[in-house]
Amino acid sequence: MTTKFRVLDGAHDTPADLAQHEAHFGPIRGLHLEPAELKASGLTGRGGAGVATALKVDFLRQQKRAVGYVVVNAMEGEPAAHKDRTLISKNPHLILDGAMVLANMLGADDVVVCVAREHTSAVATMKAAIAERGRRRLQGPAFELMTPPGRYVAGEESALVHWLDDGEALPQYRSTRPSVLRIGRRGVLVDNAETHANVALIARHGSDWFRSVGTSRQPGTLITTVSGHGRTTVVEVPYGTPIRDVLHAASVPFDPVAVLLGGYGGTWLAGHHLDRGCDNESLQGVGANIGAGVIVAVAPQGCGVAETARIVEYMARESARQCGPCAFGLPALAADLELLRRGHDGASALARLEERCGTIEGRGACRHPDGVIRLIRSALRTFADDVVRHAGGQPCPHAATSAVVRIPHRSHPETLEWA
Ligand code: SF4
Repeated sequence: MTTKFRVLDGAHDTPADLAQHEAHFGPIRGLHLEPAELKASGLTGRGGAGVATALKVDFLRQQKRAVGYVVVNAMEGEPAAHKDRTLISKNPHLILDGAMVLANMLGADDVVVCVAREHTSAVATMKAAIAERGRRRLQGPAFELMTPPGRYVAGEESALVHWLDDGEALPQYRSTRPSVLRIGRRGVLVDNAETHANVALIARHGSDWFRSVGTSRQPGTLITTVSGHGRTTVVEVPYGTPIRDVLHAASVPFDPVAVLLGGYGGTWLAGHHLDRGCDNESLQGVGANIGAGVIVAVAPQGCGVAETARIVEYMARESARQCGPCAFGLPALAADLELLRRGHDGASALARLEERCGTIEGRGACRHPDGVIRLIRSALRTFADDVVRHAGGQPCPHAATSAVVRIPHRSHPETLEWA
């Protein structure tokens, strides 16, 4: 595995200031990227959905109304992710460079950087970086920092734009056809912070350079957040790097029985699949997706049923409660999983779980409930032997104590506490 870092390159112990940033990455003045070069790079979104950035840009450029805003989504509502905060803590100006390049490409006057208000260190760093650029009087878009509340669904792009448009940070009902998000009457491009940082690198080095690592469908690198080994480790690797190598790079000291990929709305993957690459093509055959680069490793003494129950209980609390199947269905799924975890009436709970997954799937305004169902189905598959034992009233010896995944105690925390 190459250890050539990119967006985390030039890392300092403190956030790089503008002079350090330009000394390492090159000057900001004159940064420019043609849409064709962006398309040639094959850059895909790093926020989870993996939509090609050029597709979003093309779609917006075809609209009659002007694009007013480029939004940097650094909300990182996924509890197992720490990549955006790590990137901000090292190279905040790389993110701002990318947003500036995209704003110039689209003719947008404003860049809005969104960082969850609870992530106080990242907020302070980004505030300082934006102020520093203001003092330099750089030409181009105006930068503004916004700090929405850091709920799980608040980072969903329609929720974020709704909040910026003076609404609540709740996902909006959208048709299955692509539609333009707007603030007021002006169109909005939303991309994840890491995606913006990659745009800045493509503008400097070109699409061939960008494609020199990664896979043909997912070029470049991915910042992964690895946990489950008693700490959180952030490593940048080329897309396609075997999961086993990523765990090794993160110094995970055991052979996991399973890993959770993509986040709390992601997929459990059994330990014998760890030679698969960290890219969506390699993971497609096992129904998984690398999402925003989250990997949680479960040691042999962990209990996948218990871990899934803990996650689903949290995800039920995080429902925005505006769609019935999500508001009522997720707590019911959590209750059934808790019964299964304890081995109390587990067979009935398991039957209800499977049925409820079918009735809730696809019935929310956003993908929140579908993520939960994907997680549950993958748990039933990956931990099939354990599930049978739990359903038969004989839960794993560690079911009562297994606590690998980190769960925020409260749904709307000003200061997150973790279990
Ligand atoms: S599906 Fe759930 S989280 Fe998504 S908008 Fe509806 S209630 Fe909110």
